[in-house]
Amino acid sequence: MYDVLIIGGGINGVGIARDAVGRGLNTCLIEKGDIASQTSSWSTKLIHGGIRYLENYDFKLVRESLKERDIIKKIAPHITKPIKFVLPHVPSLRSSWMIRMGLFLYDRLGGKSSFERSKFIYLNQQFDENPLKENFKGGYMYSDLFVDDSRLALLNAEDAINRGAKIYVNTNITKVIRDNEYWSVYLENGEILKSKVIINATGPYTISVLNNIFGIKSKKKLRLVQGSHLVVKKIYDGDQAYILQLSDKRIIFMIPYKKNYTLIGTTDHEVESFENPKITDQERTYLINSVNSFIKKKINNNDIIWTYSGVRPLVEDNNQKASKISRDYTFEIDDIKGAPIITVFGGKLTTYRKLSEQVMEKLSKYLYFSSKSWTYNELLPGAHNNEIDNINISEKIIGRLVETYGNKISKLNEYYNEFETGGELIFGDFYEFEVKYLIKEEMARTSEDILFRRTKLGINFPKEAKDKLEIILKRHL
Ligand SMILES: Cc1cc2nc3c(=O)[nH]c(=O)nc-3n(C[C@H](O)[C@H](O)[C@H](O)COP(=O)(O)OP(=O)(O)OC[C@H]3O[C@@H](n4cnc5c(N)ncnc54)[C@H](O)[C@@H]3O)c2cc1C
Repeated sequence: MYDVLIIGGGINGVGIARDAVGRGLNTCLIEKGDIASQTSSWSTKLIHGGIRYLENYDFKLVRESLKERDIIKKIAPHITKPIKFVLPHVPSLRSSWMIRMGLFLYDRLGGKSSFERSKFIYLNQQFDENPLKENFKGGYMYSDLFVDDSRLALLNAEDAINRGAKIYVNTNITKVIRDNEYWSVYLENGEILKSKVIINATGPYTISVLNNIFGIKSKKKLRLVQGSHLVVKKIYDGDQAYILQLSDKRIIFMIPYKKNYTLIGTTDHEVESFENPKITDQERTYLINSVNSFIKKKINNNDIIWTYSGVRPLVEDNNQKASKISRDYTFEIDDIKGAPIITVFGGKLTTYRKLSEQVMEKLSKYLYFSSKSWTYNELLPGAHNNEIDNINISEKIIGRLVETYGNKISKLNEYYNEFETGGELIFGDFYEFEVKYLIKEEMARTSEDILFRRTKLGINFPKEAKDKLEIILKRHL
């Protein structure tokens, strides 16, 4: 008998699982695909206060998010990186006093912070290379945190497992039966699980899961808003990112990504369905034209290396404009007709940890467990700063591995040692031992799991290398 059974292995589901098991609850999570295979791997990858939410007077969300920014930087230093954001001033869109006021709040709302405060800068003088057109003279600079979104989810899942949670991936639920005291959950593999409480953390699927699996009609509605990104050849040298104000009052980001690329996004494109989101031609053109209205060296379709899209599960607040709908989260509890089910609506990557704590508060009505928060202080796997000795992995390939896995490199080294010089070379600096490690230690099952969620090698990965990876996968599964 589980205390809690969570449905959905996106950032919110795994965050809840980690918090729950760490407080002594017997915890289980069911994910129908891979961990972070939906929205949680298709984000802009920012742990941020969300400066633009100030315009919507969403002060509570910004305050909470700014606090979380410092906490996530502390618990996941190996997969996060503070980045300076440059906001070129466009007087016709927002006045300087308004921007100054916004940044004043952004610097202070979260309380004491390790992030640098904002300041005015001259765009031509601040960096070695200024990619912006000469008519943009001045701007403001502030800092936020960049994160590997899917690895953030994976590390939460891994830590939950290390602490005793049971996580099923690639597993569908076929039916549920509700009793007064507990739920029976039937899995496609024939297992029947029992749990006192269920948590529905299925992101864009939330309402369809409630309707179709539980037969519950929600009072809330979701607005499904697709956001797309382009990954293009690096537009400029330098570590700074840009936040560009567009004439439709939206903003987009231009962020240095993985040494050779620039990440551009995002859009707000309303969709009917949350299955298989894919960038439209219109979104592609919108992103290219928007960036080109700011930069000196124009980009075009040929510069695009990769695109990705995700669907935001936003809680309908009857706002006309998709970009204005709050990114905050809320819950719905159904406990009248038997064992309880708590449903999570909305939420950002940035707020997953706080959201999980609030789920614990809701759970305390039904279960007896420690009320002490703990996730704000406990590092995620790979984050410990202990010395790494006796590594045999060659210096040529160790850089990317440390960047991706932090101090889990010691474990990777054990796999490296099983083979002669790391096993077969698949592509670039990617060898067989890493594949075996990902299968045995990080729940990878398919080439997609490896190329797009455990690593981002898939951004530019040739077909022949993929065929080779498939063969090696079969060898170790
Ligand atoms: C374009 C875009 C940019 C974004 N940028 C940012 C950003 O920069 N910073 C930020 O903080 N937030 C950002 N967000 C928001 C953030 O990505 C999401 O709020 C967050 O990932 C939602 O996580 P989730 O766990 O609720 O949902 P998901 O990640 O979608 O997870 C839900 C999971 O439930 C599973 N599931 C569904 N049905 C079932 C079922 N029947 N049985 C089992 N499992 C099931 C799915 O497979 C999925 O893995 C962005 C979102 C988008 C779309």
